[in-house]
Formats: sequence, structure tokens, C-alpha cells
Amino acid sequence: MDTQFFNVDPRLQALSNEALTAARTAFDRIDEITEYNQQKVLSAFIRHKVSESHFASTTGYGYGDRGRDTLEEVFADVMGAEDALVRHSILCGTHAITLALFGVLRPGDVLLAATGKPYDTLIGVIGADKPSDGSLAEYGIGYKEVPLADGRPDLDGITAALREDPAIRMVHIQRSRGYDLRPSLSVAAIGEIVKTVRAVRADAVVFVDNCYGEFVETIEPTAVGADLMAGSLIKNPGGGIAENGGYICGRRDLVEQCSYRMSTPGLGREVGASLGHNRSLFMGLFHAPHVVGEALKTATFAAFLFEQLGYRCSPSADEVRADIIQAICLENSDALIAFCRGIQSGAPVDAYVTPEPWDMPGYDNQVIMAAGAFTLGSSIELSADAPLRDPFAVYMQGGLNFHSGKIGVLLAAQTMLDNGLLNV
Ligand SMILES: *Cc1c(COP(=O)(O)O)cnc(C)c1O
Repeated sequence: MDTQFFNVDPRLQALSNEALTAARTAFDRIDEITEYNQQKVLSAFIRHKVSESHFASTTGYGYGDRGRDTLEEVFADVMGAEDALVRHSILCGTHAITLALFGVLRPGDVLLAATGKPYDTLIGVIGADKPSDGSLAEYGIGYKEVPLADGRPDLDGITAALREDPAIRMVHIQRSRGYDLRPSLSVAAIGEIVKTVRAVRADAVVFVDNCYGEFVETIEPTAVGADLMAGSLIKNPGGGIAENGGYICGRRDLVEQCSYRMSTPGLGREVGASLGHNRSLFMGLFHAPHVVGEALKTATFAAFLFEQLGYRCSPSADEVRADIIQAICLENSDALIAFCRGIQSGAPVDAYVTPEPWDMPGYDNQVIMAAGAFTLGSSIELSADAPLRDPFAVYMQGGLNFHSGKIGVLLAAQTMLDNGLLNV
């Protein structure tokens, strides 16, 4: 449909309509997954007798918080896991992953990254590259890495690494591409890694960084044998409603170990007042399958549109997706900056703000970010980030609903056009 409320060039509008027609099959596939996952979540709410009384708040130690405990049971059920910790007091995805690593690993153990270098914020947690206060390295925990081979898990390399070092206690897998052009891993591909690990070392703990992957497929990595996984509630599983938080789920004994790191040995999961967050965490989980579907449609639409405009997209428009991230290689920094400014101009919050590239701590290149979100830093809401370096890829994700996400994408293209940076 043409828009009356935004200034979109008629040529772009026509391309948008073509992109939507081309995306129909992909949208149908997304709808099927959304429907399956929505029923899975709804039935778990019903099975666990979620009730209004679970939304009551606790303060202080938070002992006996029924809502918090029920939320964790529902979450575990939905993820196909034995147990879960789902807390607003887990501050972000990096914190959740850190709790999982420190919860399981002990001095003398080695962590093996099986899908190459982990996400940026984990480098300091591991502390292998350079000294980092409080890192795993400071506690005598070693680190090894098997790089991806042509973007795919190197199963032979993983086998060899495990044979070579019996101290490897935990294997780290990253499902999402993160801010990298590698492909995301399907749950089936994660299952292959699990099988490979088990064939050498039945007792190694397989951990999955599940950020951006939740509800993109009908099953989660725990269903194909991953022992433990973690993620952020201001990405997929918070449904755009959780105000912050993170989760860890998987094998009961491992989740319990993590709980002693989350609070203290002895106290574990029993403490942790919900401070009024239960309702939004329940509601966010309830909405999550649908919102992930909307984000997937936004990403898919963007890929169809920008491929028509001649840009390389990863994943490509027709590819089956394993996370909500869409990378678009925009070829130069002016185009990248215009794209991000366009995304920002279509946000419900802070649309009038102009994103500027800046020297972000920890990055070698300048970075530009567009985010006009109800929740600060939320990337299940439409957002785009990019380091200003070759191939000038923008990483776009989120979109609380497709109709507004589509406008954001169109305004990104329109801003490029306005600046003479787009051929239509
Ligand atoms: C976002 C993300 C993280 C870290 O989560 P934060 O909430 O930003 O701390 C870790 N791994 C991957 C793959 C991510 O996408």
C-alpha cells in the first residue's frame, strides 16, 4: 500500500510493492513458524496456570516469589529445557552468558569456542587476548578457539581440539552472526556440533549463546542436545515489553550451578525480588513469537528491497533465516550513514535525532547506530548499527510490528535517494 503519511518517492514505492510480492512465500513460512511458536507459548501459560496473582511484586530478599518461579517454569517449558533462570537482575545478554560460563567452569578447566571468535563483549570476559580484570583467565580458566571454515562449523577441527585437550570442560557455540558477515547457525547445524562433541567427550558441557535466535525456528538448541543456553530479554524473548533482563536455561544441575554465581553459593535462585517486573516479563514472553515474526518480516522485506536496488544482502532475501539480523553491504560510508539516519527518522521515539558516527570504546573503526526505542538499547525494536569499514555493511534488526518496520526500511532507502546515493 502507498503511504500518505511519509514522503516516499513513487519509484521506491513501486519497488517496495514488488518486494512485498516477491516476499510472499517467505512471509508464509514466517507465519507458520510464528503460529507454531505462539501456540507453544500459549499452551505453556495455560499448563502452568499463569494467574493474575503471579504479577504481584515482591521486595527485599524476594523469598517465595510465586510469579518469578512460575515464569521460570513456563520459560523452561517453552525452550524445551529442564530448568531456567529468567531475571530482571540479569542485566543483559553478556551478563547472562558470563553467569553461565563462571557458573560451570572451574580453575584448570578450558573453554572451547567452537564457532570462532565469540561476540565482542565476551572477549573481556574470557580475558585470553589481553588481561582483563575479573576475567575467566584471572581465575585460571583456559581458552581455545576453532575458527569457522568458510563460515561453517569446522567439525573435524572441533574433534581434533577436543582430542588434544582433555581439560576442555565447556564448548561455546554462537547461534547468531552477531555483527559479522558469517552465516547464522540453524538449530540443526547446532545439533551437528553437539553430536560431534558427544562423540569425543560425552561429559563436555555444550553451551549456546542464543541471542537473536529465540523463536526464529520451531525448536531451540536445547531440543537438539545443547546443555545450557543464555540470552537477553531486550532481544527476542522479551517481546519488546521486558524492560531489561536475561535468561539461562538448560540442564537442571547446570542451571543450579549458575544460580550460585547469579546470587551466592547457598542462596542460589531463592533470592531475587521481582520488584514489579513479573507482569512485563510474562507479557513479553507471551508476545515474543509474534514480535520475532514481525522482525523477521521486516528483515526479509529489507533484503528483497535492497537486493532489487543492487546491494548484497546477508542473509539473502530467499535464504531461510536463523536469526533476526539483516546485513546489507552498502559499499561506502555515506550510504551507510544515510541508511542509519533514515531508520532513525522512522522510529516512534527520538525520530528527530540525527545519528553521527563516533569512536566507540573497544572498536577500531568509527561506529554509527540508529535506535529510536521505547527501551534503551532494545534491539528487538527496529535498530541499525554499523562500523564504518569495508564492505560498509549495516546490521539491521528488530521491528515491533512489520508495518512500522517497513516504513523504517523505506525511509532508509529514501534518505539514501535524497542524498544522491541510490540508483532507482
Ligand atoms: C547481543 C548479543 C550478545 C550480548 O548481549 P548484550 O545484551 O548486548 O550484553 C552476545 N552475543 C550475541 C550473539 C549477541 O547478539
